[in-house]
Amino acid sequence: MRRRLVVGNWKMNGGLAANARLLDHLVSEWQPSDRCAIAVCVPFPYLGQAQAALSSSAIAWGAQDVSAHAAGAFTGEVSAAMLVEFGCRYAIVGHSERRQMHGETDAQVAAKAKAAIGAAITPIVCVGETLEQRDADATDAVVMRQVRAVVDALGGDVAKIVLAYEPVWAIGTGRTATPAQAQEVHASLRAALIKAAAPEVGILYGGSVKASNATALFAMPDVDGGLVGGASLDANEFLAIARA
Ligand code: PEP
Repeated sequence: MRRRLVVGNWKMNGGLAANARLLDHLVSEWQPSDRCAIAVCVPFPYLGQAQAALSSSAIAWGAQDVSAHAAGAFTGEVSAAMLVEFGCRYAIVGHSERRQMHGETDAQVAAKAKAAIGAAITPIVCVGETLEQRDADATDAVVMRQVRAVVDALGGDVAKIVLAYEPVWAIGTGRTATPAQAQEVHASLRAALIKAAAPEVGILYGGSVKASNATALFAMPDVDGGLVGGASLDANEFLAIARA
């Protein structure tokens, strides 16, 4: 049985005081649910704050990236073992902002997913096409190439990932994929996961998810929840999405 999951990606936002208000609000309002789990992926410096605020709650937390390397001369990188020390359950890997702005390749994303799994952290592997790729009818080819890199690198461990379909043109733009557009890609991703013997992997949709569109998106049979950027910075909006 696939459990639903809604994850907030705070991106490079926050501050100690604002985070405390947001986390406290989530803790006081979120009712543990068998139907849906929630998590927040915060900037690295705030992992300790998330750990302290959420440890005795039903809300999980995680990071927005993880190094493919275990230790050593990798200035600015953070290892999976370090994330474990801060209680992280999740690490986002391959977010389009990292693929586009930091040139991360499919192979690097797969190596990061592997490093996370090696430390018992669930990688949330992001895939998605640009608008040019969609307009060129290349959506399926692009997301399949991105997924195949992870399947090839992980083998049977691919069952330990969470997948997030995030069309690049929908991230932070206010332009959401229609439920039918999301379902079409999620169904292809599901078929690829079934072929890789990982039918239970959750597939989240991300890209301008809001309380007002979450119900319709989450009603799609292969949409198992959401990866939520901007709207996760507002506790009421994020909780409304999770309740949807
Ligand atoms: C994201 O950053 O993963 C994301 C989906 O952002 P937004 O919800 O703001 O589009």
